[in-house]
Amino acid sequence: MVAIVRLSVLKTMIAAFAAMSASAIAHAEEIIAVRFGVHDTHTRIVVETRTEMEFRAFASGEVTPRLIVDIPGAGWAVSGLEGGQGQGHGLAGRFRFDPAAQSPRLIFDLTENVRVRESFVLPPGDGGYRMVIDIEPVPAQVVTAANSGFDPSDQTMTQFLAERVQVSYVPPRCERPRIVIDPGHGGRDPGAPGRFGSVSESHLALAAGLALRDILNTRGRYEVVMTRDRDVFLELDERIQVARRAQADIFISLHADAAPNSATGPRGAAVYTLSDSGTNRARNRARQDGEWLPASNNRSPQVNDLLLEMSLQEKRNQSLIFASSILESSASVTPLFRREPLERGFWVLLDSQIPAVLFEMGFMTNPDDSRNLNTPAHRQQLMTAVADSIDQYFAVCNNSGTVRTASAGTVGAGPASR
Ligand SMILES: [Zn+2]
Repeated sequence: MVAIVRLSVLKTMIAAFAAMSASAIAHAEEIIAVRFGVHDTHTRIVVETRTEMEFRAFASGEVTPRLIVDIPGAGWAVSGLEGGQGQGHGLAGRFRFDPAAQSPRLIFDLTENVRVRESFVLPPGDGGYRMVIDIEPVPAQVVTAANSGFDPSDQTMTQFLAERVQVSYVPPRCERPRIVIDPGHGGRDPGAPGRFGSVSESHLALAAGLALRDILNTRGRYEVVMTRDRDVFLELDERIQVARRAQADIFISLHADAAPNSATGPRGAAVYTLSDSGTNRARNRARQDGEWLPASNNRSPQVNDLLLEMSLQEKRNQSLIFASSILESSASVTPLFRREPLERGFWVLLDSQIPAVLFEMGFMTNPDDSRNLNTPAHRQQLMTAVADSIDQYFAVCNNSGTVRTASAGTVGAGPASR
């Protein structure tokens, strides 16, 4: 995300550098080494200089993906690489020093599109000062939006890009995914009243939620967080907050439906994801509280809006895949009210980034559904099906663990690799 931030202020930087480079030429400071460290998730580039120097690193997605490191006032004095060129490692291919540019810069050809995960300066170890730049792969679509050189104050261009931001499905992380289970209602809010001998919706949802928790815990792969694990009242927004604090990978809210004025009425389970109007509310909420944003200073509102659109789109796609998977696996246990995921603006689904579904386990107004839901054996079967769908959802996952835009943390400034 750092790269996106830097690009938004690129014009200002170029102006500042132009002013500096004229005076810098007379006493150029020297680059004395360029090194690479290859890690699972990123490549670390270390540029060593005799004195402490300012620099700016940014990815550029022209025809060939490149990383450019502007170093105002820099000269080249790397022994063994007198020609100012060399071969990188990991994500970095060949590189060259360009002293003739408006500002002296290092240009790295890249094996794929990257973003700058982090950049900082380390004080001298046994050599010089070390500029450290960590780069990591990034989906091509994100690069296109971020590196297209558009002026963030240009509303037409921003709109144009926003419409084209189509982040395809981003796999969830593999490493102990966090599942947040939200049994609906509770305490002074019983939900739909018990019918045909069953307890109320709030009690059925809690019983099902606890069953799902136990099944998932037995499988040992997940960290399970409950919004409530007893009969207490919880505001809808508190349920979202629980998911956020847990940095949930998925959120599932459990309910039982009720149809008005019907003798036997509709029956079967249904899965809901956030509707378009709900997405509008999610967008407004996110803009108001800003909590979803990756940490940064100095980013334009237009770029923030683009990031938000990516996040909402990513959430939507992931939620739909999870919802479809629930329907598929529970079809053998319960009749389905609809075979496709449905959409509605449920409050608990309004977080802007956590994939979220609401599972209506059946209709309490239907005698068969109601009796089934009131039976522990049926709930166990149904929740086993949901657990299977969670297994299926996480079967395709991303080992890097840095998949979601807003959950990418900062990486500690460890020693540079040699
Ligand atoms: Zn409900």
